[in-house]
Amino acid sequence: MPGITPLRIAVVGAGLGGLTAAVALRQAGFDVEVYEQAPELTEVGGGINMGPNAVRVLYLLGLGKGLDREAVPGIRSNLENSSTRFHCALMR
Ligand SMILES: Cc1cc2nc3c(=O)[nH]c(=O)nc-3n(C[C@H](O)[C@H](O)[C@H](O)COP(=O)(O)OP(=O)(O)OC[C@H]3O[C@@H](n4cnc5c(N)ncnc54)[C@H](O)[C@@H]3O)c2cc1C
Repeated sequence: MPGITPLRIAVVGAGLGGLTAAVALRQAGFDVEVYEQAPELTEVGGGINMGPNAVRVLYLLGLGKGLDREAVPGIRSNLENSSTRFHCALMR
Protein backbone atom coordinates (compact mmCIF):
# COMPACT_ATOMS: atom_id res chain seq x y z
CA MET A 1 0.00 0.00 0.00
CA PRO A 2 1.47 3.38 -0.95
CA GLY A 3 2.86 5.37 1.96
CA ILE A 4 2.93 2.40 4.32
CA THR A 5 6.30 0.87 5.07
CA PRO A 6 6.05 -2.91 5.43
CA LEU A 7 6.93 -4.17 8.89
CA ARG A 8 10.53 -5.33 9.01
CA ILE A 9 11.03 -8.68 10.74
CA ALA A 10 14.30 -10.32 11.76
CA VAL A 11 14.30 -14.12 11.94
CA VAL A 12 17.21 -15.48 13.97
CA GLY A 13 18.28 -18.93 12.82
CA ALA A 14 18.02 -20.49 9.36
CA GLY A 15 16.78 -23.86 10.60
CA LEU A 16 13.54 -25.51 9.59
CA GLY A 17 11.52 -23.22 11.81
CA GLY A 18 13.25 -20.00 10.87
CA LEU A 19 13.22 -20.57 7.13
CA THR A 20 9.61 -21.74 7.12
CA ALA A 21 8.58 -18.68 9.12
CA ALA A 22 10.60 -16.41 6.80
CA VAL A 23 8.96 -17.83 3.66
CA ALA A 24 5.48 -17.51 5.21
CA LEU A 25 6.12 -13.96 6.40
CA ARG A 26 7.54 -12.89 3.02
CA GLN A 27 4.51 -14.33 1.27
CA ALA A 28 2.33 -12.35 3.68
CA GLY A 29 4.07 -9.18 2.51
CA PHE A 30 6.52 -8.53 5.32
CA ASP A 31 10.10 -7.42 4.84
CA VAL A 32 12.05 -10.33 6.35
CA GLU A 33 15.75 -10.84 6.97
CA VAL A 34 17.17 -14.12 8.22
CA TYR A 35 20.24 -14.10 10.46
CA GLU A 36 22.22 -17.32 10.79
CA GLN A 37 25.30 -17.82 12.93
CA ALA A 38 26.73 -20.61 10.78
CA PRO A 39 28.95 -19.34 7.95
CA GLU A 40 27.15 -21.63 5.49
CA LEU A 41 24.34 -24.16 5.40
CA THR A 42 25.80 -27.56 4.65
CA GLU A 43 24.77 -31.18 4.49
CA VAL A 44 24.55 -32.83 7.87
CA GLY A 45 24.39 -36.40 6.63
CA GLY A 46 21.07 -37.08 8.28
CA GLY A 47 17.49 -37.47 7.19
CA ILE A 48 14.31 -36.06 8.59
CA ASN A 49 10.87 -37.64 8.66
CA MET A 50 7.99 -35.27 8.08
CA GLY A 51 4.43 -35.96 9.04
CA PRO A 52 1.46 -35.06 6.80
CA ASN A 53 0.81 -31.87 8.77
CA ALA A 54 4.33 -30.52 8.11
CA VAL A 55 4.26 -31.60 4.47
CA ARG A 56 0.93 -29.85 4.00
CA VAL A 57 2.40 -26.57 5.29
CA LEU A 58 5.29 -26.78 2.83
CA TYR A 59 2.87 -27.42 -0.03
CA LEU A 60 0.76 -24.43 1.07
CA LEU A 61 3.90 -22.29 0.95
CA GLY A 62 4.50 -23.36 -2.65
CA LEU A 63 7.45 -25.63 -1.87
CA GLY A 64 5.79 -28.80 -3.12
CA LYS A 65 7.81 -29.08 -6.33
CA GLY A 66 11.11 -28.96 -4.46
CA LEU A 67 9.84 -31.34 -1.83
CA ASP A 68 8.68 -33.81 -4.46
CA ARG A 69 12.07 -33.57 -6.17
CA GLU A 70 14.17 -34.05 -3.02
CA ALA A 71 12.02 -36.17 -0.74
CA VAL A 72 11.32 -39.85 -0.64
CA PRO A 73 7.59 -40.49 -0.25
CA GLY A 74 6.79 -42.97 2.46
CA ILE A 75 5.77 -46.28 0.95
CA ARG A 76 3.73 -47.30 3.97
CA SER A 77 2.73 -45.34 7.02
CA ASN A 78 0.10 -45.77 9.63
CA LEU A 79 -0.40 -41.98 9.35
CA GLU A 80 -1.56 -42.29 5.76
CA ASN A 81 -5.17 -42.14 4.67
CA SER A 82 -7.04 -41.05 1.56
CA SER A 83 -6.45 -37.33 2.16
CA THR A 84 -2.91 -37.23 3.55
CA ARG A 85 0.52 -38.12 2.32
CA PHE A 86 3.54 -39.04 4.36
CA HIS A 87 6.98 -38.02 3.21
CA CYS A 88 10.41 -39.03 4.38
CA ALA A 89 12.46 -36.02 3.33
CA LEU A 90 16.18 -36.54 3.05
CA MET A 91 18.33 -33.57 4.06
CA ARG A 92 21.18 -33.45 1.59
C1 LIG B 1 19.67 -36.35 15.00
C2 LIG B 1 18.33 -35.65 14.86
C3 LIG B 1 17.32 -36.25 14.12
C4 LIG B 1 16.07 -35.62 13.99
N1 LIG B 1 15.11 -36.21 13.24
C5 LIG B 1 13.92 -35.61 13.08
C6 LIG B 1 12.93 -36.18 12.25
O1 LIG B 1 13.13 -37.22 11.65
N2 LIG B 1 11.75 -35.53 12.12
C7 LIG B 1 11.50 -34.35 12.76
O2 LIG B 1 10.40 -33.79 12.59
N3 LIG B 1 12.44 -33.76 13.54
C8 LIG B 1 13.63 -34.38 13.72
N4 LIG B 1 14.58 -33.81 14.51
C9 LIG B 1 14.24 -32.56 15.16
C10 LIG B 1 14.37 -31.42 14.15
O3 LIG B 1 15.64 -31.46 13.54
C11 LIG B 1 14.19 -30.13 14.94
O4 LIG B 1 12.94 -30.16 15.59
C12 LIG B 1 14.20 -28.94 13.99
O5 LIG B 1 15.40 -28.91 13.22
C13 LIG B 1 14.11 -27.68 14.83
O6 LIG B 1 14.09 -26.61 13.92
P1 LIG B 1 14.47 -25.19 14.41
O7 LIG B 1 14.37 -24.29 13.21
O8 LIG B 1 13.65 -24.83 15.61
O9 LIG B 1 15.95 -25.30 14.95
P2 LIG B 1 17.32 -25.71 14.15
O10 LIG B 1 17.01 -26.52 12.92
O11 LIG B 1 18.19 -26.24 15.20
O12 LIG B 1 17.83 -24.30 13.65
C14 LIG B 1 18.28 -23.30 14.52
C15 LIG B 1 19.25 -22.44 13.72
O13 LIG B 1 19.52 -21.25 14.46
C16 LIG B 1 20.88 -20.97 14.38
N5 LIG B 1 21.18 -20.13 15.53
C17 LIG B 1 21.17 -20.49 16.84
N6 LIG B 1 21.48 -19.46 17.62
C18 LIG B 1 21.69 -18.40 16.77
C19 LIG B 1 22.06 -17.04 16.98
N7 LIG B 1 22.25 -16.54 18.22
N8 LIG B 1 22.21 -16.24 15.89
C20 LIG B 1 22.01 -16.72 14.63
N9 LIG B 1 21.66 -18.02 14.39
C21 LIG B 1 21.51 -18.84 15.44
C22 LIG B 1 21.55 -22.33 14.37
O14 LIG B 1 22.85 -22.28 13.82
C23 LIG B 1 20.58 -23.11 13.48
O15 LIG B 1 20.92 -23.04 12.11
C24 LIG B 1 15.83 -34.40 14.65
C25 LIG B 1 16.86 -33.80 15.39
C26 LIG B 1 18.09 -34.41 15.50
C27 LIG B 1 19.19 -33.74 16.30
